[in-house]
Amino acid sequence: MSEKLNVEDIFASKVFTLGKMKERLPRSTYREIKQLMDQGGELSLETADVVAKAMKDWAMDNGATHYTHWFQPLTGITAEKHDAFVSHPDEEGKMIMEFSGKELIKGEPDASSFPSGGLRATFEARGYTAWDITSPAFLKEDATGVILCIPTAFCSYTGEALDKKTPLLRSMEAINQQALRIVRLFGNTGATKVVASVGAEQEYFLVDREKYLQREDLIFSGRTLFGAPAPKGQELEDHYFGTIRERVGSYMKDLNVELWKLGVTAKTQHNEVAPAQHELAPIYETANIAVDHNQLVMETMKKVAGRHGMTCLLHEKPFAGMNGSGKHNNWSLCTDNGVNLLDPGDTPNENIQFLLVLACIMKAVDNHADLLRQSASDVGNDHRLGGNEAPPAIISMFLGEQLEDVVRQLIETGEAAHLIEGGKLETGVSTLPDFEKDATDRNRTSSFAFTGNKFEFRTVGSADSIASPNTTLNAIVAEAFCEAADILEKADNFELAVHDLIKEYMTKHQRIMFNGDGYADEWIAEAERRGLPNIKSMVEAAATLTTDKSIRLFERFGIFTRAELESREEITYETYAKTINIEALTMIDMAGKKYIPAVIRYTRSLADAVIAVKEAGVDASVQTELLDSVTVRLSAAKAALDKLKKAVAAAAAMEDVKAQAFFYKDTVKTVMDELRTPIDELEMMVDKSVWPVPGYGELTFEV
Ligand code: ADP
Ligand code: MG
Repeated sequence: MSEKLNVEDIFASKVFTLGKMKERLPRSTYREIKQLMDQGGELSLETADVVAKAMKDWAMDNGATHYTHWFQPLTGITAEKHDAFVSHPDEEGKMIMEFSGKELIKGEPDASSFPSGGLRATFEARGYTAWDITSPAFLKEDATGVILCIPTAFCSYTGEALDKKTPLLRSMEAINQQALRIVRLFGNTGATKVVASVGAEQEYFLVDREKYLQREDLIFSGRTLFGAPAPKGQELEDHYFGTIRERVGSYMKDLNVELWKLGVTAKTQHNEVAPAQHELAPIYETANIAVDHNQLVMETMKKVAGRHGMTCLLHEKPFAGMNGSGKHNNWSLCTDNGVNLLDPGDTPNENIQFLLVLACIMKAVDNHADLLRQSASDVGNDHRLGGNEAPPAIISMFLGEQLEDVVRQLIETGEAAHLIEGGKLETGVSTLPDFEKDATDRNRTSSFAFTGNKFEFRTVGSADSIASPNTTLNAIVAEAFCEAADILEKADNFELAVHDLIKEYMTKHQRIMFNGDGYADEWIAEAERRGLPNIKSMVEAAATLTTDKSIRLFERFGIFTRAELESREEITYETYAKTINIEALTMIDMAGKKYIPAVIRYTRSLADAVIAVKEAGVDASVQTELLDSVTVRLSAAKAALDKLKKAVAAAAAMEDVKAQAFFYKDTVKTVMDELRTPIDELEMMVDKSVWPVPGYGELTFEV
């Protein structure tokens, strides 16, 4: 019998929850904090002092020695700088541990070494972090000890966002305001707030750490840059939902416990399609907490893997020829009085509200498909999108057969006549059926799919922060809501006006609906005919940030300034160039120091064998033939290696970041493929004992 695990006891034990605040704070302070969390506003320094003391006491009761402002710079991961609670000892030399309100609400890390895309001139290195009161503080425990982590936003001194959290919070404010206008129109006066809710399904790979450490490509770039396919891959479809191996099972158990302690509601776990691939999903929650928690999920996945002698790979494409990893971002909008705007509802009134919301989302996604695609781009995701394992780079909306039929009827006649037996759906006449997520009707090839009461944005990459996709979703839908509310608030006949608006939006934006196979070549042609953008790479997507349309959208709702958008475009080019450069240098290193020398040794033994066999007076044609084909590939590899060195040098000499990024994509990557091909072929020919690194089979099956 294994030890009993009491999840109720451990859940959020490392989080400074509202419950703990209630216990530890004076009642008036607690009420003030709760009010600020729900409705926003400024925190006074006096209140901050009280909260800081309670927070420090709780943290120290749990062994903490340090605190940190935990933030999310534009690297896409999190950053922390630890400060001990120690202060000047008193006259008698006694240490008093301190943590003030000022230290809680504001930090001043040196911002000069974080990407800023020109936002912050290097002489103005200062940036500041500010407490995000809506996301709870938590304790991180590792070899460093116990650290109190305070989720913060990170800005420059001139107020520009240098992080992913600030724009997300701004976008949540925008969607809150505009969605409230919509629900008010439908008579919902009880709601005081609409929040974006997000549930992120996280895919990942696990490999044995000893084997991982033998591969520089995994160490430096998180993916294999070489590797011939194993005799078996995912073709038997025996891994998906399969029995979980013991070692992986004990990892998952540990991972859940760690996440529960951090207040993350780890809920589902299963094996994914590719061998060694798995998934974890927590229960959905408010978008900014979901974003913070997803960072913790990724971090904890890596940390716990180490304890089990494994390494967790979050890269979107660790292995060529096998499925990569994504992160389905489930998104919905809920009022604080319990209405999910994406739920068709039970009454005609709710139905019409749902159809209006749907029409607005169709408009938003169609108008800003380019931005949505951009929001889900990172270097690794370029390998995945359009690779027949993930949605194509084309953004389209899947509504399911039933709902699409309703939309089509509304477009054609303004009513849905054959919806449910006997009834018809005209504004205010009948009710919509529940569009329950139907297991048989799930279109995995769609980038943006309606699944019952939420949209599932499937384009997002597994290693990426989910802040940008949700910022963009909130922004584009806020815009559509705003434009709809502008019209409807002025309408003399509301019923008629909604009816017309739903029909108008659905008609105008119907091209975004697609229920078919997103992997089919016909879809690419069809999407082109419909005028839908097909932006194939991260570097091509970057420019969508700074189109007039994008600047207008984001500035209108105070989510990004033009300068912030320009900086993000520039950072995209920099990140891309740097990442591919690391990959290219890693390939040069591995080919030059491992593969080519190993193959040379092998040709030498083959040549010896040829001579010896010939001397023995027998036929040496097998040995000769093998020697011949190995040598041909060896020369090809050497030629490609030289070419890659030249390409990297040429890239390094370029000054314009955008041109450089494109050069990496179009030229350097092509040469990388040229180098990979002969090496992978050699891996299949050469004696296994001379091959210098573990292959795909060992990496993915021997976990
Ligand atoms: P599947 O793999 O079948 O799509 P999962 O259970 O793995 O489903 O993940 C579904 C995710 O969607 C979970 O994180 C879940 O909490 C989340 N989710 C469910 N309902 C909503 C909603 N209304 N809004 C946002 N996310 C939701
Ligand atoms: Mg899932």
